[in-house]
Amino acid sequence: MTKSNKAYNSFEVAQSQFDRVADLLDLKAATRELLRSPLREYSFAIPVRMDDGSVQVFRAFRVQHNDARGPSKGGIRFHPLETQDTVRALAMWMTWKCAVVDIPLGGAKGGVICDPHHLSAREQELVCRGWVRQIVKNVGPTIDVPAPDVMTSAQHMTWMLDEFEAVTGSRAPGFITGKPISLGGSQGRKEATGYGLVFTLREALREMGLRPEDTVASVQGFGNVAQYAIELFTQIGGRVEAVSCWDQADSTSYTYRKKGGVDLAELRAISDPFGGIHSGRAIELGYEKLSGDAWIEQDVDILIPAALENAIRADNVGRIGKRVRIVAEGANGPTTPEADSALKDRGIFVLPDLLANAGGVTCSYFEQVQSNMNYYWAKDEVLGKLDVKMTSAFLAVHELARKQKLYMRDAAYVIAVTRVAEACHDRGWV
Ligand code: NAD
Repeated sequence: MTKSNKAYNSFEVAQSQFDRVADLLDLKAATRELLRSPLREYSFAIPVRMDDGSVQVFRAFRVQHNDARGPSKGGIRFHPLETQDTVRALAMWMTWKCAVVDIPLGGAKGGVICDPHHLSAREQELVCRGWVRQIVKNVGPTIDVPAPDVMTSAQHMTWMLDEFEAVTGSRAPGFITGKPISLGGSQGRKEATGYGLVFTLREALREMGLRPEDTVASVQGFGNVAQYAIELFTQIGGRVEAVSCWDQADSTSYTYRKKGGVDLAELRAISDPFGGIHSGRAIELGYEKLSGDAWIEQDVDILIPAALENAIRADNVGRIGKRVRIVAEGANGPTTPEADSALKDRGIFVLPDLLANAGGVTCSYFEQVQSNMNYYWAKDEVLGKLDVKMTSAFLAVHELARKQKLYMRDAAYVIAVTRVAEACHDRGWV
């Protein structure tokens, strides 16, 4: 991650987005107060005996923003620059995301300040088990259900599930999602966020009278979300010309571009499990290696930021090419408020994160449902249900935006905040 990515406080961004919508909806003061900050926050330490015998203490967080509509739900990130404010913002965005796609869950998020690149598998396992031990009383299938996020995988979820079951003396597959299929995971989960983004993108293109086969995209990130977005976008006929990712060896990011379009299988074969691309081999395969920010200034129709927050900022929004018609936000919070105003002024159609990347949590909800029923669906059934959810959420947001002449982000927020505020009101909280 570039340093500038962290120059913005994501929680302030999330609150300023909320405040705009609270004004639009003329929310009561108490509702506003309740929803603009988390209901509960936990901050704790995880001591780990490292492979060399020393003890390292990792700081960790869990934030439950709101659970009026159901148990809270949200991923756990491992990142060296993780902060409590980032986790707060992500928890808040989870609340809106679950509400905009109308699944009966609230919003939460977790994090550990660590860099798994520098931890052995054993050390990562101890971090996962330590995380669960510290928070076990405040999470669970009917309370708060974690999931993977940046730099955490099905393996991390398995260690966490095993620890939760060991500590509670139960079998509780509904405690966590993003599990491997063999332990009650859902078919289609790894595809869900990227595919969900493309389901909404497909609908946006249809509304704009554009055919996917006539469009070209540039993508920031080459992790879970980006790879599956590229996979489905190319399957429906689109072309991706540039991909940017973080280079661990150089501690910076690069963009890889290939005229005629990147080859997903080829790039997957030279990437690491954290979504980094081996630069030397990319060059051998004919890719141009450009600066990390170059993904934003490509001559394309669609930009897909699918790495981390604050990717599109006041200092680089002006570099977005004239041809760009759509920004489809795969990452959480990839656009800062100033950059968002600039996109709005330019008339760029934004598929906001809370809608565009909600496929992951929607499939996690399907996973919970299947785990609780102990009855599992085929992949086509999962992805079919996902398509229905994402398409209907897109259509509802687009219809509201069209009728009330709202920016897409505001329309998505209006739907989400209204639903959460109603649940809080119905419970008698406000
Ligand atoms: P990941 O760890 O699999 O991949 C992250 C990618 O971002 C990697 O390719 C990494 O190299 C790249 N990256 C990091 N810093 C970069 C930089 N400065 N410039 C360019 N590339 C950079 O993570 P993921 O699961 O794909 O998540 C990506 C984003 O999507 C995050 O914001 C996450 O919160 C969000 N998200 C993920 C899911 C999910 O299901 N995985 C669901 C919803 C939202």
